[in-house]
Amino acid sequence: MSETYDYIIVGSGTAGGLLAYNLTQAGARCLLIEAGKNFRKETFPRLEGDASAQMYWGGGFELSHDASMAFLRGKVVGGGSIVNQGLMDRFDEVAFDDWRAESGVDFFSLAAMAPYYDAVEAKLALHTFTAVERNQNAEKFVAGCEACGYEWKYLRRGQADCGLEEGNDCIGCLNGCHRDSKQSSMVVFVRPAEALGLELVTETEVEWVEPAGEVVRVHASQAGTAKTYQARRLILSGGALGTTAVLLRSGFKPRYPALGKYFASHPQFMFFAIYDEEINAHQGYFQTVNSKDPRFRPRGFKLENVFAGPASSALLFTGYGRAHHEIMRQYCHMACAEVAIRDENAGEIEVGKNGRLAIKKQLTDQDRRRMKDGTAVLKEILAASGARQVIESPLYFGLHLMGGSRMGTDPATSVVEPDYKLRGFDNIYVCDSSLYPNAPGINPALTVMALSQRLSEQLTRS
Ligand SMILES: Cc1cc2nc3c(=O)[nH]c(=O)nc-3n(C[C@H](O)[C@H](O)[C@H](O)COP(=O)(O)OP(=O)(O)OC[C@H]3O[C@@H](n4cnc5c(N)ncnc54)[C@H](O)[C@@H]3O)c2cc1C
Repeated sequence: MSETYDYIIVGSGTAGGLLAYNLTQAGARCLLIEAGKNFRKETFPRLEGDASAQMYWGGGFELSHDASMAFLRGKVVGGGSIVNQGLMDRFDEVAFDDWRAESGVDFFSLAAMAPYYDAVEAKLALHTFTAVERNQNAEKFVAGCEACGYEWKYLRRGQADCGLEEGNDCIGCLNGCHRDSKQSSMVVFVRPAEALGLELVTETEVEWVEPAGEVVRVHASQAGTAKTYQARRLILSGGALGTTAVLLRSGFKPRYPALGKYFASHPQFMFFAIYDEEINAHQGYFQTVNSKDPRFRPRGFKLENVFAGPASSALLFTGYGRAHHEIMRQYCHMACAEVAIRDENAGEIEVGKNGRLAIKKQLTDQDRRRMKDGTAVLKEILAASGARQVIESPLYFGLHLMGGSRMGTDPATSVVEPDYKLRGFDNIYVCDSSLYPNAPGINPALTVMALSQRLSEQLTRS
């Protein structure tokens, strides 16, 4: 049994890192437990396949129970913020109005969340792209949007020093930033918190938690060895799948009928456009623009101008042998964009008797309509930009995993109270993307941080 900490935080990702920093800075004795490995910028794996295997749950991606959809989530100190693209968007009124209506939580509003967004943004180096940073992939997307009369915008990203002007061209953002430029939770929060006295244990997976009066016990496995830690307060920040799995394994399902339900993931559908001229989308910034057309939001989709390294791209194409070789041969002539939909939260997370996750998630009829609607628009844009062929990947995936332990006022449809407490417990909190009431249709990370900022202010006041 460990010493009794003031706080144990499970998961060092987007939420957990910020909470650990704020609480440690306020003088609390904190233990941060992370299932993944502890890399530094010098030690992140250099091979694309190796990075996937070492820094993602499931060794790359996890599949839905019927293998129709893949999910990506980071398993590493810094969590999702190490493997994500670092795009930082505030929610709009549509997202918060829907959240408020669905959850009954009154602080889900732009006005009430503004101070927390402000506080988080003040901690991050944020950069909004400009015309000089557009690579040929972005040029094609912009040209296509303008030819069709669709609005587009520059993206805002958490990055401090990518060094593109010095010739750095790493496009390694999804495999751990080798420059500590990307504003990951590891760079901005975990390392500074360690300097302030945060205790971090890694490669340690929390299996279940046990309320025990004044303390909460946390049962974990470290390289096959059982470990038990205890604290006066526990914060679960393992992400939608991680936190929900811990609560399910702890036997809370009979108590909370909504536990595991309302899972959403913003499914993404990738399209590669091939041009006569070289595009070299792997050079320059990975992603600088996306759609901003006001007609798309009510239709439930957005268009992202993205790219992938050769190994990841190769996975997305069908065919074997010569047919696959023929596609890959054209890699330097490809631009890429995707349709991302605001999906219904009809997914369900379960844990089997063996403790393994089952992610039940299929596209609903509305999801399919949104995907088809977005696909038609994107194909129009790519054709207008001069593409001679468009390849649609049959594999689609979710990167924004949300819900499962959602926040709300109704015990029938939620698990976590508006004060972030697991309903019925005074010393167990949930703070991460698992408490999202539904899919906002907007990049989730900045709001995960703003919600974490809000909880840490609440806790340091109490
Ligand atoms: C490839 C990719 C690109 C993305 N791009 C963007 C983007 O540009 N902008 C954006 O807003 N969002 C993006 N996202 C999504 C964003 O990263 C997530 O929404 C966000 O990280 C969720 O934060 P979280 O704190 O809920 O969970 P996470 O950041 O996933 O952190 C959870 C942590 O808990 C750990 N953990 C889980 N279970 C346990 C356990 N039982 N014991 C110990 N540790 C555990 C995990 O290993 C992980 O480190 C992207 C995601 C991916 C995968």
